[in-house]
Amino acid sequence: MLVVHNISEICTGPIGATPLNGELPITRKRNAAIGIEVDTIAWIRDDDPASWPPNAELIDAKQGCVIPGLIDCHTHTVFAGTREDEYVQRAQGLSYAEIARRGGGIKNTVDAVRKCSVDQLVELALPRLQRMLALGVTTVEIKSGYGLTVEDELKMLRAVKRLSELQPIELVGTYLAAHTTPREFEGNPDGYLDVVLDAKVLDQIRDEGLAEFADVFCETTAFNIEQSRRFLTTCADAGLTPRIHADQITQIGASRLAAEVGASSADHLERIDDESIAAMRKAGTIAVLLPACSFYLGVEQAPARRIIDAGLPVAIATDFNPGSSVIESLPLTMSIACSQMGMTPAQTLVATTTNAAAVLKRDGKIGAIKEGTQADLTILEVPTIEQMCYFAGRNCTKTVIKKGRAV
Ligand SMILES: [Zn+2]
Repeated sequence: MLVVHNISEICTGPIGATPLNGELPITRKRNAAIGIEVDTIAWIRDDDPASWPPNAELIDAKQGCVIPGLIDCHTHTVFAGTREDEYVQRAQGLSYAEIARRGGGIKNTVDAVRKCSVDQLVELALPRLQRMLALGVTTVEIKSGYGLTVEDELKMLRAVKRLSELQPIELVGTYLAAHTTPREFEGNPDGYLDVVLDAKVLDQIRDEGLAEFADVFCETTAFNIEQSRRFLTTCADAGLTPRIHADQITQIGASRLAAEVGASSADHLERIDDESIAAMRKAGTIAVLLPACSFYLGVEQAPARRIIDAGLPVAIATDFNPGSSVIESLPLTMSIACSQMGMTPAQTLVATTTNAAAVLKRDGKIGAIKEGTQADLTILEVPTIEQMCYFAGRNCTKTVIKKGRAV
């Protein structure tokens, strides 16, 4: 048995998608110890050595706060190439859309990814995941979407699968073939969808266990509502749970489509309206907000408070990608949510554990510190979650435990 002791407080949200309005159901247990049997939390007790098994292995939290291992439920961590030239152009006043019109943006990354083998993609992504782990992140969702041919999309997902065998973070694959229409199908998005929705391709994804979710960029510059509906419902029939990049630049009804197709989440939501918030709430679709992306681009944040006040559960994620959010740090993203969206540190904790687990359909297993849940724990070197968010940009993580092992 492994016992984590000398904890200032255990800070955890509940299990299952949770609204962040009203009194937040967050538990703070002071002077407690956690007993771990193999990969599961066996008990949470008062910090009393007399009640531990005599041969227990001990981890001294040194009066740090213990939180559930953080869950980054929206990333594009597998990619090749860098786009610092666009970063400079934006600093000089060009917009993201204007840079895309000049041939920059996603298509630059697609060119670089197509040139890479699975091994090369793995080699590039591994240090990114190691840095995320050191920040207390124990589960990460990773999307395809920079291949945009059947072979290159499968190559990206195979890289995710390989990465999950090479390091401790649990990875969740998402098929985002509908990220944008590739050059070869310019002006013919439906023709492109015919190819990536071929039954043989979806069968292969299922047979190799390459993805659990399907995602589409539903936007005037990418795929319209009709095309997005077709992509998601076809993927859902093949066993992939829908998610949507929605309402980022314009409001065309993408988050209402998320509710209609029973998506686990609609993500971005900078332009969400009240009608869509109500539809998502009714459908049980979670709002995933990406404050690091708006921060990085220097644009307006999603209306987090309006969404929270309406009682719709909110998750937050880094959206880590080589163009619009080159931010690997989920703790920094939590601080940005506090500073720029008016969320409290406790709300951001529930948004990156309890609610992020629900987005990834893992609630009950990870995302909360309860007896019987998987032992994914992050031990901080500060005594509270409030202090972690307050020290924006500093790594306050001391020890990370994944599936009962200090990693
Ligand atoms: Zn994204």
